[in-house]
Amino acid sequence: MGKKDIGKILNILNRKYKVKIEKVRPFEILIHGILSTRTKDETTFGAQDRLLKIAKNPEQLSKLNVNTIKKTIYPVSFYKTKANLLRKAAEMLLLDFNGRVPRAKEDLLKIPGVGPKVASLVEVWGFGIPSIPVDTHVNRISQRLGIVPKNNKPENTQVVLESLLNIKQRMLANHILVTFGQDLCRPTAPQCYRCPIYSYCKFEKKKYYKNRVNTINKSYKQHRS
Ligand code: SF4
Repeated sequence: MGKKDIGKILNILNRKYKVKIEKVRPFEILIHGILSTRTKDETTFGAQDRLLKIAKNPEQLSKLNVNTIKKTIYPVSFYKTKANLLRKAAEMLLLDFNGRVPRAKEDLLKIPGVGPKVASLVEVWGFGIPSIPVDTHVNRISQRLGIVPKNNKPENTQVVLESLLNIKQRMLANHILVTFGQDLCRPTAPQCYRCPIYSYCKFEKKKYYKNRVNTINKSYKQHRS
């Protein structure tokens, strides 16, 4: 798939979802990113709001007892590990970065709990730097569309996507694809029968998922008659 097609795909999807990037405090998006791994959005946002109420900045977070952080962020997955990481992250921000979230990716990656995805999230939302955080949605959809091979590692998918997209597209790609992944191109039972980019997709089971809904509708109608 070439640059043009990927650009078209993102345009088609964004006509549907109309996503926007709104600037967020780098500290907030850092907290969000650390909490979000393997956790549903609604659980992450709830935990993030509760934590930010009692720790508005790295200094306040570093003073919290780890048990308090655990109780506050529960039920995010791995809440015990994440509570420890959050405290360590706050301590590092205070000691090494004057209490501020650094802008440079190599510095972000030094922070406990921050991997490539979280660093990219902070770049895009916190600093307006074009980057593509690759989470499970972005990686799965890139594979189904045939942009990258099956089982591609997220960090490799990021490199491919960033090489194919322009700055504006890079800023929006994660937000568009995550929204699409939650809405239609779901991990199980993707809604291929109503997919606006069906013709671009290389997913080998797309016909199955497209036809499956017809079969379900047919048996439903037979059952009702
Ligand atoms: S056709 Fe199906 S698998 Fe392909 S992008 Fe659309 S929803 Fe995803």
